[in-house]
Amino acid sequence: MKNYSILLLFILCFNSSLFAELLKVSPQKGESVYSLLTRYNLTYEKNIDFFLKQNQNKISEQKGLYLGKEYELPIKIVKFNNKNIRSTLNIDYETAKKIQEYNSIVVKKGLKKSSYKDDQILWVPFIEYDLNNDINKKENEKNVAKDIFLRNNFKKNNDLFGEKYKINSVLDNKLAGHYFYLISGHGGPDPGAIGFRNGFELHEHQYAYDISLRLAKKLMESGAEVFLIVQDDEDEISDEKFLKKSGTEKLINGDTISSVQSIRLKQRTDLVNEIFRTYNKKETNHLLIEIHVDSRITDKRIDIFFYHQPESEKGKEFCEALLNTIKEKYDKNQPGRGYQGRIFGRNLWTLRNAIPTGVYVELGNIQNPQDQIRLIEPSNRQAIANWLYKGILQAYNIK
Ligand SMILES: [Zn+2]
Repeated sequence: MKNYSILLLFILCFNSSLFAELLKVSPQKGESVYSLLTRYNLTYEKNIDFFLKQNQNKISEQKGLYLGKEYELPIKIVKFNNKNIRSTLNIDYETAKKIQEYNSIVVKKGLKKSSYKDDQILWVPFIEYDLNNDINKKENEKNVAKDIFLRNNFKKNNDLFGEKYKINSVLDNKLAGHYFYLISGHGGPDPGAIGFRNGFELHEHQYAYDISLRLAKKLMESGAEVFLIVQDDEDEISDEKFLKKSGTEKLINGDTISSVQSIRLKQRTDLVNEIFRTYNKKETNHLLIEIHVDSRITDKRIDIFFYHQPESEKGKEFCEALLNTIKEKYDKNQPGRGYQGRIFGRNLWTLRNAIPTGVYVELGNIQNPQDQIRLIEPSNRQAIANWLYKGILQAYNIK
């Protein structure tokens, strides 16, 4: 475990920020403030002042609620840390127990769809349990932790590359002011597509991850800030053909990767958006790149191809720059081979929900013996990373 103390601080403090917002609800027909608060098991006297202040523009002169409008309740939505409520909120055992009871009541009443253990979302009625000060204090600590974390991003990535591939110096500043969010598909409990060769299982995730590390290194050597959203401190850039299966991947903030696909997608996108919000300043450029390996029937060869969000012109332009670069490289290195890569608009969850423009790269068919060579040869993995890097420069018109 590298940078343990920073990582720990980060886990404790940064996580909850992702959902640190108030629960918004719509009143039922004829519902008063009193009955709305009571329906959510909140004591009227304790919570009424906050409620009126928070929703002052949406309350009629007779203190009535409007149907169809949303009201903020004194309930914070906090991301559960997958351990316990006490450490998620940094509170005492008795209060944690009350919050646990509260969360099971709201599920029983049908107000919340699933248990916090399933959706990793805790409802925290912070006024009800006098937690207001604790939570505010924690938000401050969290901001400090976030700062420390982001300042250490370069060092952390460099550790992930491994001793042999560490960056010793930044070569140029071509990509200064550029932020990249690299997601290697799958990871943790999900190996992605699986191929077989020489008695080895080829796991999509391992190959996508190796290439994303190589690409990260190239980008960082040109002064870019790179966020490896999925990372594994037990793997490094590898010169092996057959990458060992691991499943030890985590998210950039130390969170475990959920085994539920919908949560997994949301975890990653939330992190991308959270970091984006921190860095989205004037004169900055942001690009999300997600790397996968496809799986089709064995004899079907697939060249590297790309997806963008259908309505995203920028996404399409990035795809075109990447595709053109790869085509040029193939034409130069393997004349006559012909490159059949294509670009598709596809409504993918991550591309749709991430704020930065995104491109989705598919590297080939993990079942196909010839496509497998593109993945298992370390020099080929490096070539793909180099080509993607060149394509990115081209997309930004950088010579
Ligand atoms: Zn995949």
